[in-house]
Amino acid sequence: KATSDIALILKAASFAAHKHRDQRRKDAEATPYINHPLALASLLADVAGITDAEVLAAALLHDTIEDTLTTADELRATFGERITSIVLEVTDDKSLPKAERKKLQEVHAAHASREAKLVKLADKTCNLRDLAATPPPDWDLARRREYFDWAQRVVTGLRGTHAGLEALFERAADGRP
Ligand code: NDP
Ligand code: ZN
Repeated sequence: KATSDIALILKAASFAAHKHRDQRRKDAEATPYINHPLALASLLADVAGITDAEVLAAALLHDTIEDTLTTADELRATFGERITSIVLEVTDDKSLPKAERKKLQEVHAAHASREAKLVKLADKTCNLRDLAATPPPDWDLARRREYFDWAQRVVTGLRGTHAGLEALFERAADGRP
């Protein structure tokens, strides 16, 4: 079990690294994209104590459908139904206008599965940490603050999932500029 868990997590890390290979984060140093899914998985495993390997794999894969050409069928064939459904739950519908997508995250948060809520909590926490420490250079103060406020509203729907992780989110939210 332990060895197959490790194999699954490494397979997900390697798959995500390949899919995101040409993408960068929005910080001034244009950090390789894969650092972000790795940060989520590490926060969940190391700091929050999550041992469910499929949740950790889903965290590593969480932006593959949204931000690369990866399809749900491809994830299903490679990683199975449970991981794919967690990833789909945290994937925005990019055919919708940005404002609508952001509103839907607020509306849908409370209805997500526990597994998807864990990944979302980690995602919002990592993004607030990034925004505080290494913001996109073209974001003015108002835009950074709006993002913090929106993340806070999404996390309102994720409460009651994992006290430790929620505390880490609050600590990151304290970094609001
Ligand atoms: P975006 O969705 O454009 O960008 C934020 C996303 O970028 C994050 O959710 C994260 O997504 C990813 N990301 C990549 N690099 C970083 C990084 N270094 N730090 C943090 N996140 C990173 O932002 P929004 O459209 O949400 O803009 C924020 C707010 O500003 C909104 O509330 C919007 O209303 C407002 N706005 C203002 C504009 C302006 O010009 N003033 C223009 C547009 C919006 P992931 O986890 O998926 O990688
Ligand atoms: Zn993300």
